[in-house]
Amino acid sequence: MICRKVKASLPDLLLAPESAPAEVRAHVESCAECGRELKELQATMALMDAWETPEISPWFDGRLEARLEDERTAAPAGFLERLRARWTFGEKLSVRPLAAATLALMIAVGGGVYEGVITQQPVPTPSQAASPVIRDLQSLDENAQVFQELNSMDQQQDAGDNGGSSL
Ligand SMILES: [Zn+2]
Repeated sequence: MICRKVKASLPDLLLAPESAPAEVRAHVESCAECGRELKELQATMALMDAWETPEISPWFDGRLEARLEDERTAAPAGFLERLRARWTFGEKLSVRPLAAATLALMIAVGGGVYEGVITQQPVPTPSQAASPVIRDLQSLDENAQVFQELNSMDQQQDAGDNGGSSL
């Protein structure tokens, strides 16, 4: 049996020795390193019991130690895995923004062309739709001109009247 596997189950062996697998107990008894670790765990748990920290389970430190040992022994493989994952992820990352940028560009260009078609086509339509308004405005302008002419005629007439009265 691998020491790492035994070390991971050492807290279980400490807390519930009767439920621990017989091979784990046999290994701890035969393996000096695992036996030492078990004694360290026992000391740690005794210390924790003395400290009376009920919110932190006695399992925690033992399991954390076991996990730390696992990580320490598995560090090179984990690092390589992480490096490989980063490389593959980096490739994906470099491809993904490019695809996103291309898509964005396509949307922008396509949208722009579409917008251009839309803005170019309806231009005659609003002018046709607005032509009555423009006609009204033109007629208003004509009316204004007519009013101005009438006004000026009135003023001329007034001037003529004034001139006539003065005479
Ligand atoms: Zn061992």
